[in-house]
Amino acid sequence: AGTVRYKTKIAVIGAGQAGLSAAYHLKKMGFRTGPDFIVLDEAPRPGGAWQSRWDSLTLSTVNRIHDLPGMSFEETIATGETEVRANVAVPHYFDLYEKKFGLQVYRPIKVEKVSLHGERFYIDTSSTAFSAQGIINATGTWESPYIPEYPGAELFQGEQLHTRNFRKADYFKGKHVIIVGAGISAIQLLDQISKVTSTTWVTRRPPEFREGPFDDMAGRMAVATVDKRVRQGLLPLSVVSVTGLPVTPEIKDMEKRGVLKRFPMFREITKDGVKWEDGKEEKADVILWNTGFRWSLSHLDPVLPREETGGIIMSGRLATEVSKEPKIHLLGYGPSASTIGANRAGSAAARELVKTLGI
Ligand code: FAD
Repeated sequence: AGTVRYKTKIAVIGAGQAGLSAAYHLKKMGFRTGPDFIVLDEAPRPGGAWQSRWDSLTLSTVNRIHDLPGMSFEETIATGETEVRANVAVPHYFDLYEKKFGLQVYRPIKVEKVSLHGERFYIDTSSTAFSAQGIINATGTWESPYIPEYPGAELFQGEQLHTRNFRKADYFKGKHVIIVGAGISAIQLLDQISKVTSTTWVTRRPPEFREGPFDDMAGRMAVATVDKRVRQGLLPLSVVSVTGLPVTPEIKDMEKRGVLKRFPMFREITKDGVKWEDGKEEKADVILWNTGFRWSLSHLDPVLPREETGGIIMSGRLATEVSKEPKIHLLGYGPSASTIGANRAGSAAARELVKTLGI
């Protein structure tokens, strides 16, 4: 009570690929930044989660960065080189994008809690308080690293790190590293770390390698699988987890070097390593969990209707609309969790929310 709230019609939370795409479409529909819509982001600079990714992730090792609407990534960045760091190139692109289209982003502002008061959402943040009629949430997953629970984790005297903490392979020199996970990040980090030190690779299931290039058909099928799940209110799988791993020259080289030897998941963590079901133990200095991310949605807990599964029933074009609360749209959740998906979802969410609010 007594808080002065800056009033707007739509609050876009997060200025990554998804949030910027939504902002672009709102602006194109004639809405003004400020009284009509605001974009809030907790990061200090443009770039979404890309600004936090490790230095060795280059434009040749990412899958593909899709253009934001209305501005070509390749033409804007125009280096022609593939060894450019993604954590430099993408933030630069986003920065130029925000300027070109006059998309004012209020940063760094972290949204802490969204609650409903009558017809309006109250948005409490690390600084100013806001109120809005509708929410487009595009907060990604980077802030929510996931590490599964294993007995003994608290006993381990080495270091437990997550993909999110990885900066440089050199950090691991001289240490024995257990690398957990079967996704793209796990494989890429295993490749780099195994070149400077000894590694053991463990995964819950064997990784699924995909022969041949990743074509549009495979992409559409992956998106359709996740789309179907969220419309039923099931927890989405990450799009990447259903696309399989491409067999790259790096992977062939890892096979040759013998580092792609996979062990099943261990049963427990000990003081100085891990122990498997059959009693075999291994010492380790670091356990590096490449076990993915969850959706960063906790600030929406008071207003987001969840199913028993923990999922949210989604509807609308590209499944961005929360069925039981259509004044909230979620981007980058489920089928739109990729740069191309986030892009399209921005357009769908802007149109649908404007229609729902009748503004
Ligand atoms: P983000 O880029 O994560 O943006 C979310 C924004 O929300 C951030 O700026 C953050 O600061 C802000 N935020 C979060 N919480 C709050 C809060 N409470 N208050 C205010 N602001 C908040 N996809 C591809 O299509 N091609 C690739 O090659 C590719 N490579 C990848 C490589 C790695 C290592 C990883 C981890 C992912 C990769 N992806 C790739 C996935 C892709 O990065 C994401 O799907 C896409 O960028 C998501 O965009 P987004 O806008 O949803 O989220």
